[in-house]
Amino acid sequence: MDKIFVTKSSMPSFDDYINEIRDIWDTHWLTNMGSKHKRLQAELKEYLGVENIDLLTNGHMALELSIQALGLTGEVITTPFTFASTTHAIVRNNLTPVFCDINTDDYTIDVDKIEPLITEKTSAIMPVHVYGNICDVEAIQRLADKYKLKVIYDAAHTFGVTYKGKGIGSFGDVSCFSFHATKVFNTIEGGAVCFRDKAFGEEIYNLKNFGIRGPEEVVGVGANAKMNEFCAAMGLCNLRNVDSEIAKRKRIVERYREHLGSVNGIKLCKNQDGVVPNYAYFPVVFEEKVFGKSRDEISDKLAAEGIFSRKYFYPLTNAFDCYKDKFNAADTPKALEISKRVLTLPLYADLSLEDVDRICNIILN
Ligand SMILES: *Cc1c(COP(=O)(O)O)cnc(C)c1O
Repeated sequence: MDKIFVTKSSMPSFDDYINEIRDIWDTHWLTNMGSKHKRLQAELKEYLGVENIDLLTNGHMALELSIQALGLTGEVITTPFTFASTTHAIVRNNLTPVFCDINTDDYTIDVDKIEPLITEKTSAIMPVHVYGNICDVEAIQRLADKYKLKVIYDAAHTFGVTYKGKGIGSFGDVSCFSFHATKVFNTIEGGAVCFRDKAFGEEIYNLKNFGIRGPEEVVGVGANAKMNEFCAAMGLCNLRNVDSEIAKRKRIVERYREHLGSVNGIKLCKNQDGVVPNYAYFPVVFEEKVFGKSRDEISDKLAAEGIFSRKYFYPLTNAFDCYKDKFNAADTPKALEISKRVLTLPLYADLSLEDVDRICNIILN
């Protein structure tokens, strides 16, 4: 049996990519906001339904530079139930992450627990639309307005998701997407910042291109986070297929739900009201006492059969070795509990329904 990994990167056909990159051999324009970059930026603005967008080298730099461009200070309220990048982006800006617990319905930040964490040092809230589940964007905006806080969404998992007909990237001050190889839409490596304020956009551009505005004009102390033309070309190709890939993901998720949806001791995420989802991940939470087997036992059993699920997100970021002395995962007990019991099962457009059946049979037997 072939091994099955938790994800498999989407790729266009070889010919499609070759056709897309062919003219780069005429122009020799490899990077620095060339025609592929410009086209992808325009197409993504349309597809994601956002007012403004800029493309970057990866999703992490989108987060890190967004924090810098907003000029945040002091403390940022965030979630530990996420990929390393979210927390690192805050700490690498010399700010203090303040960890808020998650809710156990969709594993996003618990909006009822944010307010008590706000102090005079708080400058922003940085929630994560985790697994493609969206945060309570309305409650978060109310809090942000009340306390004059900025909101940066880590939207790495929510490519193409809409809420009440609006692109998810249009909520908050800033939303950051990742186009990493493992995401629903990829540019090999890549990311984007979506934003409302044009002045913020100027700042992001400066930060991604050394602050260079002209051959003799350098206006800011910028870094380098430009998306190159080969990555943009991959994005142009993948964007043509992304709707059909999401449709395939939907069928797979439905099949998983048929098998696992009504099993005692197994908890799945529900569809959220008003949301058109992207089926980015399929997290399953095992309650050992009821189900009879622990998350780790299931993970080991699957691995023994050549099926590699992932313990996303374990450990919590506030339990990482590099943060152990600074933070305490016990402060976010729900997140800690879920991190010990959750497994994300293989999910990608090419995964066959027979493989889904096989994976579920292993879990259930
Ligand atoms: C993938 C991911 C990132 C980082 O994106 P890269 O493009 O890999 O830099 C940030 N946050 C979350 C939640 C992610 O899953």
